[in-house]
Amino acid sequence: MPLTPSEKALVPFVSVDHMMQLVHHIGLADMLRGIADNIEEDFRRWPLFDKTPRVASHSEQGVIELMPTSDGDVYGFKYVNGHPSNTRDGLQTVTAFGLLADVATGYPVLLTEMTLLTALRTAATSALAARVLAPKNSKVMAMIGSGAQSEFQSLAMQAIAGIEEVRLYDIDPAATTKCAANLKGTGLRVVECTTAEEAILSAQIITTCTADKQYATILTDNMIGAGVHINAIGGDCPGKTELAPAILHRADIFVEFPEQTRIEGEIQQLDDDHPVTEFWEVLTGAATGRIDPAQITLFDSVGFAIEDFSALRYVRTHIEGTPFYHPLDLLADPDDPRDLYGMLARAKP
Ligand code: NAD
Repeated sequence: MPLTPSEKALVPFVSVDHMMQLVHHIGLADMLRGIADNIEEDFRRWPLFDKTPRVASHSEQGVIELMPTSDGDVYGFKYVNGHPSNTRDGLQTVTAFGLLADVATGYPVLLTEMTLLTALRTAATSALAARVLAPKNSKVMAMIGSGAQSEFQSLAMQAIAGIEEVRLYDIDPAATTKCAANLKGTGLRVVECTTAEEAILSAQIITTCTADKQYATILTDNMIGAGVHINAIGGDCPGKTELAPAILHRADIFVEFPEQTRIEGEIQQLDDDHPVTEFWEVLTGAATGRIDPAQITLFDSVGFAIEDFSALRYVRTHIEGTPFYHPLDLLADPDDPRDLYGMLARAKP
């Protein structure tokens, strides 16, 4: 049955509470796999999307960013921040919300929390990249940084890339203990480590997911042996990186959207013409991924708008027929579209 104009004006809103219920209703592993499938599907139709580096507003403490894209039928954007010092005050480093809209009318069709959804989509993207680029039969991942993203990264690698063991390291041992406790009973073998060197022992995949607003050196060149896959998540802002430049010179580098990654990713440390491969081209077969067991592959992740779009459309589809959203009175809906003033006047108490 077609929606009446007033029903059309109500926008489904997914709160944090509803998002948590949706994740438990679907199951985290299934939801990670579903979002990864959407990301793969959207990356395969990459040329169709509007693409722009995200619009960033930097401050001394962090960054606030807008991430828009459109596939011609549906438009989406995410508002997201990155404030590494927030955790000191009991606040999240990353929080987000996002919106989908119908291109034909411009009307929003979904408004949702995206702090949890960002953790899911970032983890799904990492695991999709690892499934394609990491050595075959990778079973062990080192997870450097045990903050908000770390459990999601670990569980996506288990659900999508077949990882069986995670080796955790964080400069703050309390974070490692928290992550290890959260991963108990998930089927992953969890090893708590006291140094990054210990964490990377026997790992085929190394994920760096730390938060510090500086050119940090989480991994030095001598730590990286032949054949590993590095999934670098935390370097996602100008002046905020995690890897020693020498590693970048030894690795084959895969990126989301080069125009954005050259500003924000590990490759901001390299010349502008340093060769990189766009990951979507590996998925379509237009470019090669791993071709040699000794090759070091690096997924220089910064997070791109299309991944959010994929996650948003997953949520839009999966809340249908569930109680996991509120219809939100977000749009003015006068009986006569040209009589906005009359609607206001009639509402006078
Ligand atoms: P968080 O603040 O919750 O956790 C970061 C952890 O890193 C903390 O536990 C901290 O103690 C640890 N850490 C800091 N310096 C370290 C070091 N030198 N060695 C080991 N551990 C160290 O942050 P989060 O939400 O987990 O996010 C982690 C990073 O990922 C942030 O930089 C964030 O901006 C980035 N991020 C990237 C994407 C993406 O798409 N690429 C998406 C979300 C978040």
